[in-house]
Amino acid sequence: MTAELFIQAAYLVGSVLFILGLRGLSSPTTARRGMFQAELGMLLAVVGTLLRFEVVSYQWILIAFFLGSAIGVPIAYIMPMTAVPQRTAFSHACGALASALIGTAEYYKGLRQGPAPTTVEMTALIVETLLGFLTFTASLMAFGKLQEVLPQRPITYKGQNLVNISLLLFAVLVAVYLVLHPGETRLFPLMIGIPLLFGVLMIVPIGGADMPTVISLLNSYAGLSAAAMGFVLNSKLLIIAGALDGSSGLILSVIMSKAMNRSFTNVLFGAFGQVQTSSAAVKEARTVRSATPEEAAAILGAANSVVIVPGYGMAVAQAQHKVRELYDALTKRGVDVKFAIHPVAGRMPGHMNVLLAEADIPYDKLLDMDAINPEFPYTDVALVIGANDVTNPAARTDPASPIYGMPILDVDKARTVMVIKRGMSPGFAGIDNELYYLDKTLMLFGDAKAVVGDLVRKLGGDGHG
Ligand code: NAP
Repeated sequence: MTAELFIQAAYLVGSVLFILGLRGLSSPTTARRGMFQAELGMLLAVVGTLLRFEVVSYQWILIAFFLGSAIGVPIAYIMPMTAVPQRTAFSHACGALASALIGTAEYYKGLRQGPAPTTVEMTALIVETLLGFLTFTASLMAFGKLQEVLPQRPITYKGQNLVNISLLLFAVLVAVYLVLHPGETRLFPLMIGIPLLFGVLMIVPIGGADMPTVISLLNSYAGLSAAAMGFVLNSKLLIIAGALDGSSGLILSVIMSKAMNRSFTNVLFGAFGQVQTSSAAVKEARTVRSATPEEAAAILGAANSVVIVPGYGMAVAQAQHKVRELYDALTKRGVDVKFAIHPVAGRMPGHMNVLLAEADIPYDKLLDMDAINPEFPYTDVALVIGANDVTNPAARTDPASPIYGMPILDVDKARTVMVIKRGMSPGFAGIDNELYYLDKTLMLFGDAKAVVGDLVRKLGGDGHG
């Protein structure tokens, strides 16, 4: 009885900590605390479960623990921050497989040992298995595309959507039949095979550029599968955790789609990134103006206001600490420095916030797109560091551009624009950027960390700093 009381208390406190953790993650100031709360919640949930009377021996659990840790711990250290989307895809695949296997085991166990599952239990079990297996292969495919083990381009063929939708409908029909006739064991393997196949087919037509949004959607499926597992295993904690996971994943996908001005249907069926029909793509080679670090440092040092626009290139170069030094050097000279944060800059939501927080840049200097855009016309220098798509004016001006309609940072409205990047390569969307050819734009070619380091040196070494 005392053990049962402890378990229930651990589950209750664990659930509350999950909710507080998610709440904490909504702001950079409280994110670390939120993460700690969520971890503590998970620890309580695991300890509570291990104490359940159904757990009669620990040997298999210990084997799984060491096996899981042997995979999980190195991944946490080896995979860089820029690879977080594919790392997340991989962990979804593992979680979803676990959930699907439990669903399968519970089905056969229920039939062999009784009592046979009720309609409600059977519905939860089928949802868990279907979503679990589907998410497993879809997440592995997403991982492969992002890690570039598989081709990034969408692969399409005639009648693809029809094939996919028919397969899904067939799975739903079998599922409904099984819910009504749980004893039809011959049909259950279809509940494994169809979703495994559907997961692959669902990702094939989606391009690498849309993978982060899809991963967030798969996160939501894995959460729903876990919530269904909660009903099967009669675990309120799993239902709560799964529901939180499912809803936050869905909200995140909606936010990301909005920030890219895409609809869900367009992300899932649009084959984005397949053929570039943008007028920018057929433009002849044009010249750009480049500047030396000395010239750039002189302009920056003489400015009243500078807005730094970080992007994926800053993350790749790990230039955030150098950017902090630049911020210090400029503010020391009395320059007003702010950071413009686009919601999908980088490769995952909050990517720039995390990096800049790591470099201890004051949070109040980080401004969201809506807050900073009206300030660009009054800004002396917009300094773009490894950002590309999120600054591309084609999103406002070129209806033929694949990113037309995507809200962007209006850096082209600043008095002077400086862009740090290594060459003229396009960004994630694979399209040229009109910004680089403007008269007011100066290109600073090189690795972001090296160039920002040069700027800091020039600013500090000319006697004004
Ligand atoms: P981006 O458009 O991908 O451009 C990054 C730029 O960084 C490239 O043009 C590249 O040019 C430069 N670069 C790469 N390595 C560099 C280095 N070491 N030093 C300096 N520059 C470097 O990045 P973004 O402007 O941040 O836009 C993000 C894109 O990802 C958007 O298209 C967005 O829709 C997409 N996306 C984001 C999310 C999210 O959640 N954040 C989710 C889904 C999709 P060079 O190679 O010439 O240097």
